[in-house]
Amino acid sequence: MAHVLVVEDDPTIARELGTALTADGHAVSVANDGRTAMARIGTGPGTDLVLLDLGLPDVDGVELCQRIRSSQPGSVIVVLTARTDPMDVVVGLEAGADDYLTKPFTLAVILARVRAHLRRSSVSDDTTGYTFGDLVIDLRARRCLLRGHPVVLRAKEFELLLRLAREAGAAVSRESLMADVWDENWFGSTKTLDVHVAMLRRRLADAAREVEAAAGTAPGRAGVDLPSITTLRGYGYRLDPPDAEVATTERR
Ligand code: CA
Repeated sequence: MAHVLVVEDDPTIARELGTALTADGHAVSVANDGRTAMARIGTGPGTDLVLLDLGLPDVDGVELCQRIRSSQPGSVIVVLTARTDPMDVVVGLEAGADDYLTKPFTLAVILARVRAHLRRSSVSDDTTGYTFGDLVIDLRARRCLLRGHPVVLRAKEFELLLRLAREAGAAVSRESLMADVWDENWFGSTKTLDVHVAMLRRRLADAAREVEAAAGTAPGRAGVDLPSITTLRGYGYRLDPPDAEVATTERR
């Protein structure tokens, strides 16, 4: 049973969400403010998914999102916001959210989205991993290593990298990426995708710098072999291996 934490200060919405998610088979906790949410995160069972209202009485929602992200790197965070300014959405995504829904929303949409996220995070794969140069994507451990150094990726960043890795060298359309990594019935802005690609590139570059620092060489001199993510304007993205060879480890 997946554990879902609802962080929402409006008692009516919180109650409705709690009831609907429980009826849908999830274990649900509700926090009506940021302080309670952090207490639940700190002491409760592992949280699989957090529904987080950005407008809370006691704490800035974006800041809370960052704190939840750093204490629960593997959980999915879906931001609920009445704000329709796209900037707020971007700030929320950069603060660690995987997805967002703008109010007003229907329970059916929320339940479908939650189910899609939880199904995704337990999805299995025919292979056990991918290797691109110095980068290893280990599916069984759900981790990514660059010359043995962990590349810390959030759930959606990992899945995005994995989706591109499965078709390395091939163009993957924005629609496929949104459908496969986020939701098959995605109808919102695909800004989410661009923000995640930007963060994924940044994390890979940061990891390469850390490897170089550990090797004691100047930036760019350790010869770290990384795949790159190429933007295909008007179409989507492509993962380009550092060389033409793509090694795939078959499941034993
Ligand atoms: Ca609120």
